[in-house]
Amino acid sequence: MKMRKSKQEIILENVEIVDAAAEGKAIAKVDGMVVFVPFVVPGDIVDIKIFKKKKTFAEGRAVALRKPSPLRAELKCPHFGVCGGCKWQNMNYESQLQYKYKQVKDNLERLGGVDTSSMRPISGSDNIFYYRNKLEYTFSSRRWKTEEEVAAANGSPIDDGQGALGFHIPSVFDKALNIEHCALQREPSNQIRLAIRDYAYEHNLEFYDIRNHTGFLRNIVIRNTSTGEWMLVLIVAEKRDELFPLLDFIADKFPMITSLQYIVNDKMNDTYGDLDVVTYRGKDHIEEQMAGYNGGRTLHYKINPKSFYQTNSEQAQRLYSFVAEFADLQGNEVVYDLYTGAGTIALFLADKCRKVVGVEYVEEAIADAKVNAVYNGFTNTTFYAGDMAKVLTQEFVQANGRPDVVITDPPRAGMHEKVVEQLLLTEPRKIVYVSCNPATQARDLQLLAAKYQVQRIQPVDMFPHTQHIENVVELTLIKDK
Ligand code: SAH
Repeated sequence: MKMRKSKQEIILENVEIVDAAAEGKAIAKVDGMVVFVPFVVPGDIVDIKIFKKKKTFAEGRAVALRKPSPLRAELKCPHFGVCGGCKWQNMNYESQLQYKYKQVKDNLERLGGVDTSSMRPISGSDNIFYYRNKLEYTFSSRRWKTEEEVAAANGSPIDDGQGALGFHIPSVFDKALNIEHCALQREPSNQIRLAIRDYAYEHNLEFYDIRNHTGFLRNIVIRNTSTGEWMLVLIVAEKRDELFPLLDFIADKFPMITSLQYIVNDKMNDTYGDLDVVTYRGKDHIEEQMAGYNGGRTLHYKINPKSFYQTNSEQAQRLYSFVAEFADLQGNEVVYDLYTGAGTIALFLADKCRKVVGVEYVEEAIADAKVNAVYNGFTNTTFYAGDMAKVLTQEFVQANGRPDVVITDPPRAGMHEKVVEQLLLTEPRKIVYVSCNPATQARDLQLLAAKYQVQRIQPVDMFPHTQHIENVVELTLIKDK
């Protein structure tokens, strides 16, 4: 390796990428120092430009690919490296899975002191492209320009045109990358987005300017189900005359949209959880089906624009099947489903046990859970909205019945200490811990080790090409502690 150094820049030449790290970055080691580099693959030989240097690590960007790694894969979209959405898209899927497996294993061993000898191979997604059932796009009057564009312009200003419809670049809040093709949601997702953009260009509809809070078109949300239903939600800054012709255009051009809705958002930010949704055509929801566990009965979920639903439906079914397998319900158990979201795991298990109690702090999600419980004809489910650390107490346990089995699926931060404490006090005979962050899961497993023993471990990949990983752990109560 050689190092070129001028006043402002350090370039490391012919460096081998040796590992993949969290957050979708890869790692090179130079003179004992770790260098984080995005969008490269272990095995690549690259030149790296350093833009941040600390005592123990540096961050850089690959400026030349000298020799591509054999782990490389072909790209499916033209936006790789700029968009930031699928950071591992250039690595073959087998290798992605191996690195994810290793990440879970390392975390559980190092941070949790867990014996991982029983860890099962990671369960990969059958569809590695077009697997998402929901995408949100932003209209922005400011279009993100690629480096090539900037270089080609040679210093002269580049026109934003009428704006962009696409994704925000990570950490750039006021610009959007104009997306031509996204390989995450199946067609007609791209066709819908492009048709709306072209219509907007043609009719001179204003794209939103989030800095000055001017403009008309703000966002679109496209959702679909495995049964072929499509939802489109158009979010505008104000109700202008141009709104209805646009909605009519969408409805006519895309008859597969069974739920066409709009939201007027005049707030400073893009969130719409607190805003009214108006149904323009079709139903106010779409309906998803999920096969039950082991040939069990099919579940039906109503999904409205504000509903949370796992974004990879097929893998969600698989994930929940692992949960059901580990829970191993015999029919008479009281089950708690903590961090239940819209109650999907609770409903998935409801016909396998005596009763399920779901807890979650988003009230709308709990409302969805209740609707879907009734819709599926369950009478043995109860749902509570509230902060887990406050809701889960010994009084709660007394009122709802002591759980035989607890399913817990906390957010990235893991479980609050008080929640772990209550679990240790409550002593369910089994805990099935679903996690989207192996580091906090490892921490919690170590706390639970006071009374619980790890049995089975099953990592699941819900999000190919991203750094995200899901892990299911079965814990059983140690009788003599
Ligand atoms: N089990 C669900 C969702 C899990 S995601 C599913 O499979 O779909 C984690 C959930 O925890 C989210 O719905 C989030 O709203 C909820 N949550 C996060 N912090 C919480 C807290 N302190 N108390 C209760 N719920 C919380």
